[in-house]
Amino acid sequence: MNENDVIIDVKDLHKSYGQTEVIKGVDMSVRKGEVICIIGPSGAGKSTILRCLNGLERASSGQIVVNGHDLGDPHVNIDQVREQVGMVFQHFNLFNNMSVIDNITLAPKLVHKETDEQAREHAMALLKTVELAEKADVMPKSLSGGQKQRVAIARAYVNHPQILLADEPTGNLDPTTSLGIMEVLDAINRTGTTVVMATHNEEIVNSMRKRVVELHTGKIVRDEQQGSYDSALYFPDAEVESKSHQALGTSDPNAKYRRQNAIDSTNAPDDTVDVEGATRAETVVNAVDVVAAAVHDGQGN
Ligand code: ADP
Repeated sequence: MNENDVIIDVKDLHKSYGQTEVIKGVDMSVRKGEVICIIGPSGAGKSTILRCLNGLERASSGQIVVNGHDLGDPHVNIDQVREQVGMVFQHFNLFNNMSVIDNITLAPKLVHKETDEQAREHAMALLKTVELAEKADVMPKSLSGGQKQRVAIARAYVNHPQILLADEPTGNLDPTTSLGIMEVLDAINRTGTTVVMATHNEEIVNSMRKRVVELHTGKIVRDEQQGSYDSALYFPDAEVESKSHQALGTSDPNAKYRRQNAIDSTNAPDDTVDVEGATRAETVVNAVDVVAAAVHDGQGN
């Protein structure tokens, strides 16, 4: 791999919460323009890796270089790096008390000091692309799950980040809607944006045939170009299987996708909803992202 092509370089990443090590020496290089699917059972560490990549979590040890910036270097401004990294979440994390267009224009106005008019123009162009122009002035609660996720993607992409991280972007959506979301992510990737996605969605991984990185208990157990979910080494493991059976009371071997969603929701650490569908932690992440960047730009009010 040519060094200049590498946009994310992770070396010997370790991450612990208290005494518990959840990422145990991950090495991963991502080329500019690549699409990567990080798969693996619930609790394997997929979200933790994504959160480390955009500086929402600090590595316990090891090195993460994003777009040439070493996130462990105290001189590197994480907020500036984060401006090159968009993120979308399973629960969409839209601000429920703002219209669709206000959700999208918030950061451009606050962080990039765009005027109302400029921000609205950019946001409308994106909303047209995701076929939601007519929803610009409605509140998120009137949208379907797929529409909310398209708004969330538009918000994450509005400043044309070089990297888009997606944490289970289709985790709350039915298969047909999920395919629509993947088409949007694919279109974004075709503009040159690197896409790193954590997903349980077997059908999507198999249909995309992109690079698959499989994680198990904090370690990479497979890194395969044009990979599939079918050949997963460790998924579903015995623990996931038994939890899934408990969650849905089913032994249907073809219900892996549905089962995994059920497991995710039963394991959710804090489902308090502050923002449309978002957990408290993710709500804070959104607010922190925007406010931290604003403070950095001297717009702290
Ligand atoms: P995945 O995304 O693969 O489901 P996560 O990265 O969310 O896995 O979690 C990996 C492990 O780290 C899990 O055991 C989870 O309980 C733990 N974990 C994640 N975030 C925290 C946190 N903020 N504090 C303590 N433990 C955490």
